[in-house]
Amino acid sequence: MLIEAARKGLCAPVNLTWEITSACNLRCRHCLSDSGSAHADEFSTVECLALLDELSTCKVFQVNIGGGEPFIRPDFFRILAHAERKGIVACVSTNGTVLDHTEKHIINYQLNQTLRLEDENAR
Ligand code: SF4
Repeated sequence: MLIEAARKGLCAPVNLTWEITSACNLRCRHCLSDSGSAHADEFSTVECLALLDELSTCKVFQVNIGGGEPFIRPDFFRILAHAERKGIVACVSTNGTVLDHTEKHIINYQLNQTLRLEDENAR
């Protein structure tokens, strides 16, 4: 079956990157995405969940979510939980400054997500 799937080729990216917000509390001078303020046209919660539904249907395996600082969004845990429900591996790039210890624990051990912390001293 895998060989047959390989012959047909991929129908969607295995892995993609999603800059979910431009909002960031640090506003580093070196920021490649020039993050600081959110864009006016960023996806709503409903739009984010619908995008994850679509990616799941397309069989996208992994989404690297960054920004900006994703955890600035008040709906971000809901979005992560939806990715988990849909079987999508979510890797999150965060500066880690807006998460408390309990939230980091939940992300690492309960949601089974990958968390990458940027060096906040680098700004
Ligand atoms: S913490 Fe990351 S996303 Fe935020 S301004 Fe700095 S480099 Fe950009």
